[in-house]
Amino acid sequence: MNDQERPQDLTVNRQEETLEIVWADGHRSIYPLAGIRNVCPCAECRGGHEAMSQPVERAALFERPDRTWQLSSAFLVGHYALGIEWADGHDSGIYTWTFLRDLCPCDECEAARAGAPEIYSA
Ligand SMILES: [Zn+2]
Ligand SMILES: [Zn+2]
Repeated sequence: MNDQERPQDLTVNRQEETLEIVWADGHRSIYPLAGIRNVCPCAECRGGHEAMSQPVERAALFERPDRTWQLSSAFLVGHYALGIEWADGHDSGIYTWTFLRDLCPCDECEAARAGAPEIYSA
């Protein structure tokens, strides 16, 4: 992991239901909380240990659930990851910085992923 993949600042916005991370390189990622829960990387949510090596479905990050997910606390796991405890008590998801950075839903990252620079904006 390089130093860019470290958060400098981390904010949970309970009103907007987002998790915002400002990375050491100044990049800003804003994730919908529900999406973060959808992509919970723990064995239970991923459907077993074998499934944990599979990449997550990025689409899941944008799925709106029929309920809201309240986050009760977020905590650091060593130097490499974020742990999240949800209001329903679920706390086994360990979100590594690399995982979160790879998931960044901002336009810039989406464009980079699509492999095409943005030429037109609507
Ligand atoms: Zn989970
Ligand atoms: Zn981004």
